[in-house]
Amino acid sequence: MIRTDLVMIVTSDISGQVRGKGFPVSNLEKRLKRGMGWVPTNVQITCLNSIAESPYGSVGDLILVPDEKTEVKVDFEDNGAVEHFFIGDILHLDGSPWECCTRGLAQKALADLEEETGLFFNSTFEHEFFYTGADQTGWNGFGLESYRKNSLFAQTFVSALEKAGVDTDTFLPEFGPGQFEVTTSPCVGIRSADQSLILREVARATADRFNERVSFSPMVKSDSVGNGVHIHFSLLDRENKAVTYDRSNKQGLGEKAGMFCAGVLKYMPAITALMAPGVLSYQRLTPHKWSAAFNNLAVQDREAGLRICPVIEIKGKAGKTADQYNLEYRAADASASPYLQIAALVRAGLQGIKDQLPIPEATQGDLSLMSKEELEKMGVTRLPQSLDQALELFENESIIKEWFPGNFQDVYLKHKYQEIKDTREIEPEKLYALYGRVY
Ligand code: GLU
Ligand code: MG
Repeated sequence: MIRTDLVMIVTSDISGQVRGKGFPVSNLEKRLKRGMGWVPTNVQITCLNSIAESPYGSVGDLILVPDEKTEVKVDFEDNGAVEHFFIGDILHLDGSPWECCTRGLAQKALADLEEETGLFFNSTFEHEFFYTGADQTGWNGFGLESYRKNSLFAQTFVSALEKAGVDTDTFLPEFGPGQFEVTTSPCVGIRSADQSLILREVARATADRFNERVSFSPMVKSDSVGNGVHIHFSLLDRENKAVTYDRSNKQGLGEKAGMFCAGVLKYMPAITALMAPGVLSYQRLTPHKWSAAFNNLAVQDREAGLRICPVIEIKGKAGKTADQYNLEYRAADASASPYLQIAALVRAGLQGIKDQLPIPEATQGDLSLMSKEELEKMGVTRLPQSLDQALELFENESIIKEWFPGNFQDVYLKHKYQEIKDTREIEPEKLYALYGRVY
């Protein structure tokens, strides 16, 4: 059959979907410079393919311009089409950033962090997903047998990631039957979010080659474990030196990192609307699911909103503590755009530094068993328990208007309220299936 290679330029939008436009590879040079036309109201296409109210209407034109560094070109060598795309930035026709480009919002937050504090954000996304083609016979979390029975998919996936320029840190069969976890190596700046987008899409492309699907949806059914996105991060100075750790603090948090974490904790309830923004996200963010239910900091506790990760101390084998020390944001999932996750996290942390918030204390024990008064004393609150609640906190947090330009917050709210409206009448089983498919 005759075929022409097509290249896509894509964006990860408010709905957490990856959308774009394509062109024949012969036009690559032109498209790298000028990109392709993009419609403002596209940002209001929800994950269910409805359109929320848009301030832009049918008017206006933007461009989606590829970032050459993000090229993904994976030939699975199975005679199928080569997976070839670039991640783009949505710009005005004069090249200036557009208010609702998620990647632009993340880049601006990272640039402001650097300019205002001299710090760089080093991070990686840990992803969990279910694979429909998984051989679940005698499934055992972390089981070698569970891996072996699915190693063809696993190896093809990791090979595809490698060809896409993404270095896999770890891959494992998770606890849920048919669930896997994959983590990429940490990167400074926007690249970690790029890698998160690429990882999700390469997982989908790999599954597609096996005529199967993957789902990163936070909950795939009511009685299953969730799919989390855990964002690991640390801070580097201009000399590339890790500054997150300070041994003189009892939790090991350096001064700036402590303020950063304090900001993240303070705004965690309000930014949940950006970090875990699906209608099903709130079934995962409950106690005893090893996800996160409170805006607390805790040492090595997998129920914490923000977890201080372990440091390996074997003499002569482990690296320096300061280079290993990192935090893990656990109240996040893949119904979000990774760019909005980075933007929200960095904005909240930067605010903590600007306001010189005190270094937070780590909590201990099971917070779900504590009284409201006890929690209040620790300065901890329950995270929102529905998307409605999360959006209300997001809307009422006045500082958010300063973090994001122009119409962004209003557009975001309209988008998400449309999603709530669209899903209100759908029975739970159908909703799991629907979200399972779109994420
Ligand atoms: N599946 C859990 C979540 O929803 C995380 C399990 C783990 O600690 O890796 O976040
Ligand atoms: Mg896991």
